Amino acid sequence: MREKTWRQTHVKVEVSALNFYTFAVTHRVLSPVAMPFTHRSAAADVRAMVGGKAAEALRVAVLGSTGSIGTSTLDVIAACPARFSPYLLAAHRSTRLLLEQARACRPSWVVVVDPAAAAEIGVGALPEGTRLAVGPEALDDLVQSPEVDRVVSAIVGAAGLRSTWAALEAGKTVALANKETLVMAGPLAMRLAERTGGRIVPVDSEHSAIHQALRTGSADEVTRIVLTASGGPFRTRSRESLVHVTPEEALKHPTWSMGPKITIDSATMMNKALELIEARWLFGLPAAKLAVLVHPQSIVHSMVEFVDGSVIAQLSPPDMRLPIQYALSYPERIDGPTRRFDFTQAMTLEFSPPDPARFPAVRLGHEAAARGGTAGAVLNAANEEAVRGFLDGAIRFTDIAEVCARVLDEHPFQPDPSLDDVRRLDGWARQEVVKWACV
Ligand code: NAD
Ligand code: MG
Repeated sequence: MREKTWRQTHVKVEVSALNFYTFAVTHRVLSPVAMPFTHRSAAADVRAMVGGKAAEALRVAVLGSTGSIGTSTLDVIAACPARFSPYLLAAHRSTRLLLEQARACRPSWVVVVDPAAAAEIGVGALPEGTRLAVGPEALDDLVQSPEVDRVVSAIVGAAGLRSTWAALEAGKTVALANKETLVMAGPLAMRLAERTGGRIVPVDSEHSAIHQALRTGSADEVTRIVLTASGGPFRTRSRESLVHVTPEEALKHPTWSMGPKITIDSATMMNKALELIEARWLFGLPAAKLAVLVHPQSIVHSMVEFVDGSVIAQLSPPDMRLPIQYALSYPERIDGPTRRFDFTQAMTLEFSPPDPARFPAVRLGHEAAARGGTAGAVLNAANEEAVRGFLDGAIRFTDIAEVCARVLDEHPFQPDPSLDDVRRLDGWARQEVVKWACV
């Protein structure tokens, strides 16, 4: 009986999904891989759905479990045990925290990507029932396992592309925090997902907001997407004083608690540049339809403007557990651990355009989103290396955007690169930044 109900529901969903899919593709407005309402269910989603409701806990692979997004993901999983169970936790080197996490939530696997760090794990350190795998190849294999229902891609930087790619290759639904995958290889990743039946549900709070707002209209009714930005810790600082910013100052974000790389990106507003490129490929919109607005309270997470002038926004207190949970439970909404508004308290929401003179990185994002091709990969790699240089004291805060602009300008642009081209130019851009910093 349960089986029959499931089949009937499933067939109904797939028919309407097909209509929307055809519509979106024909109109070439929004990409079906990331679109709400397409219900391009990976087999694992179907397994877990009965009568439109989840029947058993989805087995989740958390890539980058020891990071900021990773630990928030484990909070969501722990708060919703009937819905999600941790299957795999993966990290680079932070084995102490990884083992703590494994003892607390008892996944089937832990993966340590760095073999030297894995060698430090003593016999008997893992809880019963948890196995250890080592290296990036092992991670790829496990991510593709039929035992995995959802993949949370939360490895930081270009390093996250590989395992996200493996997940999409296997047709998985990916809760995507690793924006670098789309920044570097957006068209390739979207094409891959389309081919394999994989799906991307964004975790980045802005893209999650847009994904939610898009559920209120159809693809050809969208006229503009407005990404909000907190403005970071230097929103009101003078242009001259930005030259003297120290890493300690830049690492203090006013509204979000995040890993160090993205915290520096928020301070330069390069994070918004990367998010413009991410949105361009995720939603298949031309760069001209993407805008940025500074909103210091980080409550309105982004907005979509429709053809009639209506603007639909998504609001919630700044807490990444909500977009993570949304990406895991989609297409359902469920109760979870995130904070709620207290509407008995006064609340002020402010908006202003970003200042291009103080935050030139935003323009680079618009440019790279418009150019496509290798521009995103080059900007991302140059920025990763420049942020490293800034944190190491080798370059100044304001040098980050400057060196990125230069490397972007000078790179041998390719309009339709392969994954190998992307990797090669990633390496080239990093070397250019190192050379520039040494001069
Ligand atoms: P973080 O620095 O806190 O954590 C990074 C995680 O990646 C760690 O678990 C680390 O072990 C792992 N890692 C690093 N290098 C690795 C490698 N080579 N192989 C395997 N694992 C590796 O980073 P974060 O702030 O959690 O950000 C993760 C991703 O999510 C980034 O792409 C970031 O842009 C994105 N994101 C983060 C936030 C946030 O609030 N933190 C918001 C939106 C998007
Ligand atoms: Mg964001």
